[in-house]
Amino acid sequence: MSFMDSFYGGKNVYETSEGYEKLMIFYLCIHLALEVVYIGSSCTPMEIINIGSILLYVGLFFLNKTKHKLYVVWGTMWEILLHAVLGSVFMGYNCGFFFWIFSLVAMSFVPLYIPLYNVFLRSMATVYVVSNCIIFVLLKFFSEHGMLPSRYNASPQVANVMYFINASLSLGTVVGQLIFYSYSVSKYNATLKRMNETDYLTGLYNRKYMIGLFNKEIDRMDSGESGDISIAILDIDFFKKINDTYGHNAGDEILIDLANMFRSEGEGKYMVARWGGEEFAILGSYDLSYEAFCEEMRSLNKKIATTGFIADNNELTVTVSIGTAHYEKGETIVDIIKKADDRLYEAKETGRNKVIS
Ligand code: GH3
Ligand code: MG
Ligand code: MG
Repeated sequence: MSFMDSFYGGKNVYETSEGYEKLMIFYLCIHLALEVVYIGSSCTPMEIINIGSILLYVGLFFLNKTKHKLYVVWGTMWEILLHAVLGSVFMGYNCGFFFWIFSLVAMSFVPLYIPLYNVFLRSMATVYVVSNCIIFVLLKFFSEHGMLPSRYNASPQVANVMYFINASLSLGTVVGQLIFYSYSVSKYNATLKRMNETDYLTGLYNRKYMIGLFNKEIDRMDSGESGDISIAILDIDFFKKINDTYGHNAGDEILIDLANMFRSEGEGKYMVARWGGEEFAILGSYDLSYEAFCEEMRSLNKKIATTGFIADNNELTVTVSIGTAHYEKGETIVDIIKKADDRLYEAKETGRNKVIS
């Protein structure tokens, strides 16, 4: 596998196998239609060149089914450029083939998608885009100065029709490209955002996101809004023993089951984040009083202790210790967490499986 394939083998915006299949069929249809036009216009050079294009797209269609997808992209890009140049040269500049070169300039942002370490690919993509700009201008220059052959030029009527067809199709592909890349980028942005805010194993929000939420709540209270900030730190009791007895996978399953329980039990009342390892941070809803929040924690503690968890085909019981705390004016996030942490420690010291408020 070449470095290009290994790079493009991963999941990224270039992994467009299905999209490219449709694109290959679309370009194939265009070239079949063009063959009719070239034969009708008796433009022998383009009849032959176009057969080459047709064969190329058939080849690229099948190549797209292999892992060499990058060559499908490059093949298409260079075919369009070459065909647009040769079409202008033989059918005449007025047929509007230059629109395709213009539309390819819309690929200027492609080098930006290629990671910096891939200098070769970035350079290739940049050379391609710059070539398009130069060729676009040169074609107009050569045409203006009568430097293009006129022997096979299409009649003015055919040229007129070709002009509109080329303009519509090529500009349509610009719109298509912009939609495709914008969609890909927004999809990957959403994935990155999720990865940045959540914990991979449990799907719960992570510590960083929870600290942001705590700070937002403190700002909200400091600006004089009503409500309460209640937090809790929850730690699984003797979790190491569960791992040691039933295996790490069983431990993971427990963490996932607990996260699901937090979601269902806490809905509308509190939110749970994975604080780290087998520790979780809990933030009560602003409209829940501290007393009500502590009651919720006691009921969660009881629910966990009385649930039979199935992990790696074993039914086992799990208990947790919880320390709660309540925001008082002037405190920082660190102060509240420390209060909850101290109470959690006290719960651990005094027998575990309890809530200390
Ligand atoms: P205590 O009651 O005092 O809290 O005892 P403990 O065994 O729960 O505490 P300790 O801090 O000694 O052990 C925590 C264990 O949690 C150790 C670590 O292997 C385990 N752990 C942390 N993260 C994960 C995880 O993602 N998956 C699994 N399976 N285990 C984890
Ligand atoms: Mg523990
Ligand atoms: Mg711990």
